[in-house]
Amino acid sequence: MLKEKTAVVTGGSRGIGAAIARKLASLGADIAVLYAGNTEAAESVCKTCRKDYGVTARAYQCDVSDFNAVKETVEQIKADFGTVQILVNNAGITRDGLIARMKEEDFDAVLDTNLKGAFHLIRHLTGLFLKNREGCIINISSVSGLAGNAGQSNYSASKAGLIGLTKSVAKELASRGIRCNAVAPGFIATDMTEGQADNPLLQKIPLGRIGTAEDVAEAAAFLATAGYITGEVIRVDGGMAM
Ligand code: NAP
Repeated sequence: MLKEKTAVVTGGSRGIGAAIARKLASLGADIAVLYAGNTEAAESVCKTCRKDYGVTARAYQCDVSDFNAVKETVEQIKADFGTVQILVNNAGITRDGLIARMKEEDFDAVLDTNLKGAFHLIRHLTGLFLKNREGCIINISSVSGLAGNAGQSNYSASKAGLIGLTKSVAKELASRGIRCNAVAPGFIATDMTEGQADNPLLQKIPLGRIGTAEDVAEAAAFLATAGYITGEVIRVDGGMAM
């Protein structure tokens, strides 16, 4: 279904991003994984994509919060793959804390990675998408961005910002054949949520279980192939934020 397409997946070394990389590869897409520091994990995801699905897959260490580093990495990806049709902005971090005590650097770090990181990738890939009159952008937001979450004002602001970014980019680029959508996961079992088995939010999941990275990857794959959907936000949260 995605044969002859190349997908860039940020934060593709672990958790949700790794599941999205594997899922898109299973549909035939070649994969460029961006990661922060975990080379072994990133290489392992690429190896799985190559071995299990026969696609081309390469890993690039790149801090998405760095405008120029993203520019250089995008140039390298274009040289390696020839072109790109799908961008999944998934890289994200948390620096949780109560607003009364939150450090400025914790607010900035989360906004710079989660929101500006997505802007950097979109900014540096849009020229190519415009030239090809084809592009699909998927931003991984969060139910925290839809409903807010005490102790996560920085994270929620970054994820709400991603939804505004998604809808504006969707409106701006729709006439040029470029779609932009978001996925808002709820509580998903990854390194990010490790050690939170007692979180009271877990009791509020109507479907009665924590989500898997593969649950989110299904939604990303759907959006990658759903040619008449743009500006949409799909919750993958077991009903938590309904
Ligand atoms: P995770 O397991 O902590 O993985 C984070 C990924 O992002 C890793 O691949 C990491 O690379 C990469 N990364 C972090 N900072 C980066 C940077 N500055 N530049 C490039 N890559 C960077 O997280 P996850 O749970 O899979 O979450 C993935 C996305 O889903 C995030 O945007 C998160 O906010 C969102 N989300 C998660 C949940 C959840 O319950 N888990 C819920 C809602 C939304 P390294 O491996 O190199 O460190």
